[in-house]
Amino acid sequence: MEYISEKVLENTKNAIETASNIVIVTHMNPDGDAIGSSLGLYHFLKLSGKSVTVITPNSYPDFLHWLPGDDDVVDFDRKSKKASRLIGEADTFFLLDFNELKRIGKMGEVVSKNKTATKILIDHHPNPVEKCTIELSDIRVSSTAELVFHLLSLLNNELVSDINVSECLFTGIMTDTGCFSFNSSRPSTFEAVSALLKSGINKDKIYDNLYNNFSDDRMKLLGFSLDKRMTVIPEYKTAYISLTMEEMKMYNFSVGDSEGFVNFPLSIKGVVFTVLFLEKKGYVKLSLRSKGDFPANEVAKKYFNGGGHKNAAGGESMISLSETIKKFESILPEYTHLLK
Ligand code: 5GP
Ligand code: MN
Repeated sequence: MEYISEKVLENTKNAIETASNIVIVTHMNPDGDAIGSSLGLYHFLKLSGKSVTVITPNSYPDFLHWLPGDDDVVDFDRKSKKASRLIGEADTFFLLDFNELKRIGKMGEVVSKNKTATKILIDHHPNPVEKCTIELSDIRVSSTAELVFHLLSLLNNELVSDINVSECLFTGIMTDTGCFSFNSSRPSTFEAVSALLKSGINKDKIYDNLYNNFSDDRMKLLGFSLDKRMTVIPEYKTAYISLTMEEMKMYNFSVGDSEGFVNFPLSIKGVVFTVLFLEKKGYVKLSLRSKGDFPANEVAKKYFNGGGHKNAAGGESMISLSETIKKFESILPEYTHLLK
């Protein structure tokens, strides 16, 4: 398999065989790939007779709560005592869809304290920081869920065809490729999808659960954001949307309601770089997206304490929303060569 060396496969196989207490952790503000890859692996390991728990640093959107195994996920934010105990008792960690402990927030300190456990990293972000016992990291892969699929297929093809494993992994691949619109030009993605379809998943049901499951408030917030809070800067092929806490409150904002907003301005002719600024308690959360060669992750890393993929990145800013936007506009001239 092009992404997985014999050595990584052999080491992972041995690590799973000898593991007694497995904990799967994924990044803050988990998305479809984070939860899909974690729960897909969770079901696979359970079917293999292992004791396993998925722990997330914080909560995730409603449109992911239908996934099989969702009830068993432990939220560190809400159940930190239980989560810390499980992390302390783990002999094996899987770190999914991130590559630096900073990405799991306060939970990172608790994971760091467990020095004896085997750590297995599976990820597709650039520049891995976290040193792990086994590292399976490749930026060419569409999603962590796809990488998990290829790994598990090599370990036990029959268990991957379990409907729960398949639904979760398909969800990860579908969401991280924007329904196969980006990160999906490699045949391996569709080989994975083909195998998952053969397992009997209902892709239309999964699509419906993920994308036709929003509140009317969310739709109205989207309309408001595009009509009243979007700024287009044609001279830099850039557009951004910003929302204050007050505005989100007006539309009864709940986790995940702004998911996908940042992609809309990318469909404006000529626009290649978009940002969504969300005002949070004490900081501003940024989502950055781009088309083609523009490195959204470089802007996130250099100016907003973040990172991610070239075309999809995130970060945060500790100054006010209006100052953050001012700062953002002031850095655009630096990228003139890429945005003109
Ligand atoms: P989103 O905009 O959906 O929050 O994130 C887009 C991409 O950027 C995801 O791949 C995510 O893993 C990454 N990302 C989001 N926030 C951060 C951050 O604060 N730091 C880093 N390194 N990556 C981030
Ligand atoms: Mn991902």
